[in-house]
Amino acid sequence: MLKGTFPIEKFKSLETPFYYYDMDLLQKTLDAIKDETGKYGCFHVHYAVKANANPRILSLIASNGLGADCVSGGEIQAALKAGFPADKIVFAGVGKADWEINLGLEENIFCFNVESLAELRVINELAGRKNMKADVALRINPEVDAHTHAKITTGMKENKFGINLGLLGGVLDELAGMQHVRLIGIHCHIGSQITDMSAFRNLAIRINEIQDELDKRGFHVENLNMGGGLGIDYYHPNHLPIPSFDNYFAVFSSLLKLREGQQVHFEPGRSVVAQCGTLISRVLYVKEGEVKKFVILDAGFTDLIRPAMYDAYHRIENLSSDEDVELYDVVGPICESSDVFGKDVELNKAHRGDFIALRSAGAYGEIMASQYNCRKLPKAYYSDQI
Ligand SMILES: *Cc1c(COP(=O)(O)O)cnc(C)c1O
Repeated sequence: MLKGTFPIEKFKSLETPFYYYDMDLLQKTLDAIKDETGKYGCFHVHYAVKANANPRILSLIASNGLGADCVSGGEIQAALKAGFPADKIVFAGVGKADWEINLGLEENIFCFNVESLAELRVINELAGRKNMKADVALRINPEVDAHTHAKITTGMKENKFGINLGLLGGVLDELAGMQHVRLIGIHCHIGSQITDMSAFRNLAIRINEIQDELDKRGFHVENLNMGGGLGIDYYHPNHLPIPSFDNYFAVFSSLLKLREGQQVHFEPGRSVVAQCGTLISRVLYVKEGEVKKFVILDAGFTDLIRPAMYDAYHRIENLSSDEDVELYDVVGPICESSDVFGKDVELNKAHRGDFIALRSAGAYGEIMASQYNCRKLPKAYYSDQI
């Protein structure tokens, strides 16, 4: 069984569970992104902070020159603290509170991605009070099926996110009369963990249609934002640690019909950080049932909620054993029956105290941890500092 390489000797003195980040892999992933976007000149990447806001991770991403895609005032503050320049911060989210909009205005962020007419009116009003003009992009619901899990699809009709295509004309009409907003772009985000490139092809084609419509109405926007959503290979983290950014960016480069001077923005989250993070836990007990064997870990859904929340798969490896493989249900200690990381998982024979790795956990892992059951939040360790 091919497993990842981890400094197990160093793990022995550490309290589990914890997140372990491979900073070298993160740097290589960032290099791949820079190489690919560098080919096109007008492509810009804003890392989606919600995937992982660990300060060391954010700082490394900021120091590589990426921008930040934030969905709350707290994320804007975290991004600024980590060194992202304000003029590379975009701010999305369906429920921006007044203080969050004011923060974005005061910090002079690059752009507000506006999700409804109601929000646009409030931004216009708050910017007016400060005698400012807010730069906005309209988040449009492009009605492109992302072919992904229902809980992470966002670009279809009647969704809480974005402005439906049918309502766009009315929003543009009202926007034309607003004194304190300036339309600088259009924005779409169709979902997450998308591995089928045809969804991105359809998005690019739809953006072209939307642009034609904007042209007809006499609007010119400088920026097109394609959102995030590029998926990773949860099944093969050892073989495919870096997502195919080449294919991804090539889709947009070949299909988008850019107008003079237009810039294209992307907001990847998961694809940047998922593979560099692993949740490390210890086996507390091996429980032999009547038909099943259970491995009971000291990590639970409070540390990594994706399996319980999205039925997500994470590859699970026993780092301490090379004995024959057996089938186990791998579960956590939380008092909820959904606290299961995997059923009938093939693991090298497990014993109390073995280190178990839950792979590809760098995105939507540590950041979603909770203290349910009065548990401690997981700590983080880094490959270059352990
Ligand atoms: C969540 C989100 C992203 C990032 O999505 P990933 O699937 O992690 O790449 C980008 N943009 C917006 C608006 C989001 O809500």
